[in-house]
Amino acid sequence: MFDNSESTKTSLSELGEFGLIDHLTKNFSPKHSSTIKAIGDDAAVLDFKEKQTLVSTDMLVEGVHFDLAYMPLKHLGYKSVMVNASDIYAMNAKATHITVSIAPSNRFPVEALEELYAGIQLAADLYNIDVIGGDTTSSTSGLFISISVFGEAEKEDVVYRSGAKPNDLLVVTGDLGAAYMGLQVLEREKQVFKANPNAQPDLDQYTYLIERQLKPEARKDIPPLLKELDVRPTSMIDISDGLSSEVIHLCKNSKTGVNLFEEKVPLDPAVISVCEEFELDSTMIALSGGEDYELLFTVSQSDFDKIKGNPNLTVIGHMTEESAGMHLITRANQAIPLVARGWNSMNSED
Ligand code: ADP
Ligand code: MG
Repeated sequence: MFDNSESTKTSLSELGEFGLIDHLTKNFSPKHSSTIKAIGDDAAVLDFKEKQTLVSTDMLVEGVHFDLAYMPLKHLGYKSVMVNASDIYAMNAKATHITVSIAPSNRFPVEALEELYAGIQLAADLYNIDVIGGDTTSSTSGLFISISVFGEAEKEDVVYRSGAKPNDLLVVTGDLGAAYMGLQVLEREKQVFKANPNAQPDLDQYTYLIERQLKPEARKDIPPLLKELDVRPTSMIDISDGLSSEVIHLCKNSKTGVNLFEEKVPLDPAVISVCEEFELDSTMIALSGGEDYELLFTVSQSDFDKIKGNPNLTVIGHMTEESAGMHLITRANQAIPLVARGWNSMNSED
């Protein structure tokens, strides 16, 4: 996707570490009054006043979490912010600050890191997040990106994984499986390209899937939507590893069981058709695909009228007593045990 062979590219050693940091961060200016000191000192200083502070970190490693053969660096920067912000939204809180640490190998020219930071800045602007620091070092092979995200919420608004009760409704935002199928399409095109570098891919019909893989949007809108609907979820988590493993996390943390209804799982028509093309079961993809960055939460049955009919929200099941176990209720009305088959186990036989 990027090419550092041209002589117009600037090697990292030309700028040096401090020059590079200045160069990459010169456009960042804080938007939040809670940012007392951002980039430029030994530490950033934040003041959340009476609010609670949320902190989360995610690391992305080249060859493990992304492949630059089809991931443009600008998208990678954007996605790195989304992956992190999603964890704060999953606490029903507002993401406000990030630190960004990078370790590129010397095959990355300055221009490649500019692209990465253009994506980070775009995400930070659109999601109202201040970039307040980070670290810059080098790697002997590949690119590492580690982002920490900070957020704020009123104490009474914070939602944990552990509050679900039997009979609560299980609700998911958006639709599932598209990011994983986007990756399958991109992997296939990479193989085609390897075999024939002149092949011109026609990816028009896969636009939605590829976008969901390369440019996911975290659900910043959901905490304020829930507030507006006057709904406080009893438990919440974000869907990074696939629906089934996240449902299992909610159940284990809340000490409940669940009935998850296959027919209710929201799928985009593009997911259904590409699953037919790849001869994959679309329910399995939604359950195990991962990287959807949607939110999964539970609400009391008494809140059903407040959420029903909302196009962002789909009730996909209900919680049960822990002793009843965790089940997927199939279209044929069979109860089968829910198993966690996350992202990493998708391709392995078990
Ligand atoms: P130190 O030597 O104390 O680690 P640095 O020279 O690494 O300080 O960083 C100087 C300033 O630049 C700090 O505010 C730090 O948070 C910020 N910074 C360093 N690297 C990055 C980066 N990749 N992205 C954003 N800010 C960075
Ligand atoms: Mg440093």
